[in-house]
Amino acid sequence: MAELTKIPVTLIPGDGIGPECIESARRIIDAVGAGIEWEICDAGESVFKRGIPSGVPRETIDSIRRTRCVLKGPLGTPVGYGEKSANVTLRKLFETFANVRPVREMPGVPTPYSGRGIDLVVVRENVEDLYAGIEHMQTPSVAQCLKLISHKGSEKVTRLAFELARSEGRKSVACATKSNIMKLTEGMFKRTFEAVAKEYPDIQAWHVIVDNCAHQLVKKPEQFDIIVTTNMNGDILSDLTSALIGGLGFAPSANLGSEVAIFEAVHGTAPKYAGKNLINPTAVILSGVMMLRYLGKFDAAATIENALLVTLEEGKCRTGDVVGYDSGLACTTTEYTEAIIANFGKTPRTAPVREYKPLVIPRPSPALATIHPTKRRVVGADIFIESELLPVPLGQSLEALAEGTALKLKMISNRGTQVYPDKGTLTDCVDHYRCRFIARDPNADLTDQDIYTLLQKVGAVHRWMHIEKLPEFDGQPGFTKAQGED
Ligand code: NAP
Repeated sequence: MAELTKIPVTLIPGDGIGPECIESARRIIDAVGAGIEWEICDAGESVFKRGIPSGVPRETIDSIRRTRCVLKGPLGTPVGYGEKSANVTLRKLFETFANVRPVREMPGVPTPYSGRGIDLVVVRENVEDLYAGIEHMQTPSVAQCLKLISHKGSEKVTRLAFELARSEGRKSVACATKSNIMKLTEGMFKRTFEAVAKEYPDIQAWHVIVDNCAHQLVKKPEQFDIIVTTNMNGDILSDLTSALIGGLGFAPSANLGSEVAIFEAVHGTAPKYAGKNLINPTAVILSGVMMLRYLGKFDAAATIENALLVTLEEGKCRTGDVVGYDSGLACTTTEYTEAIIANFGKTPRTAPVREYKPLVIPRPSPALATIHPTKRRVVGADIFIESELLPVPLGQSLEALAEGTALKLKMISNRGTQVYPDKGTLTDCVDHYRCRFIARDPNADLTDQDIYTLLQKVGAVHRWMHIEKLPEFDGQPGFTKAQGED
């Protein structure tokens, strides 16, 4: 069934066990006659060692720009080279905003959950959140990482989760956040999810607090269909879900963007198995199956997936992670690959087979995303100060310094808890204070000059490291209160 026009795909073998896994997936995809033309490219360790600090050479970027589709092995970052992971660089360069991680019960792979029919997908926001990597030392002893969540980023990934549900015939999407604590960031993700959900009345939408989600996943994983979540929550939850069905050897993923898609296993380079022809290539093979569906090759995808499930059902050829490397029962990566090819055309007896339709990827306007409130004003400023003073002398000093300016000190917090005026808390203070000043006139819209005047007076006496304006949009405060603040 070879086809005339081949679809170009960038193939990155990667590091450690990557080349073995990729070779297996490529042999299977070629054997099914899916009509893929591979452009083999480098990224990762060898590239770092050639002195390219990103770990991704120009030729690879050019290939991806052309093909817009990548199947890759895991990449390592050798110690002493490159500060940033080449994986993260690839995901960010091509704005692959969603990381889709399906897990399903695998026949013949015993786990404590066998027989319960786990079949779920974690859709993880892939670009924003704490993984934007914006970190600063605030004082010599206090570090900060900015958690950025945008409306546009949240909308794209939540919409993709609902579209995925439709394309795979799934019934529900759960949104997992910590919006009860981070009301503005995680809260924005939850509110956006709720708004998008209204456009998908055929799909049940529900919210679950992320810590309870982890608890529920261990207790009753079969209740979940699709889980959509922010970047760090998704990172943790999706490793948990991989473990439910037999481990990283079985967990594929897709990094989906509006223009480019990158398919890869969830696992890393597992260096201790590299070159031994022993590892389980299933995660990369199933990543290839996801890729074929993305490219509209539904029959080829089904042939490979069914053959893989049949191979596991037969139980004649299983890799060492399933049966034990020293058991004498484990097959090699090559034997497993060949067993799958030999099973083309067969249908699994026990594993359910899903109907897939084309996935509609959200393609929002490339215009800069913004929301225009009808009314906005600045009602205060938080000045962050490094000080070895205790809260009371610091508060008294700041009150005196603010005299004669448009702002007055409202409170001081230390790591989020109000410590001035004293509320009798037992806060163990560090040298990093958030000092909240508000407009003396409650109706004022503070100017930059009002804030500079205060900052100049404060800065003459204390060491400040950053400042945040306190905005109000359409009458709603654009900032949260400190713990204990009235
Ligand atoms: P890892 O490479 O995923 O390996 C952890 C363990 O998972 C292995 O020791 C092995 O468990 C099991 N495992 C992973 N893949 C397997 C497979 N295909 N078949 C059977 N068992 C498999 O995680 P790591 O050791 O934390 O990371 C190693 C390197 O990979 C790091 O440099 C990391 O940065 C990189 N990494 C890259 C990616 C990526 O490129 N997307 C992702 C994650 C990590 P047992 O030891 O129990 O047999």
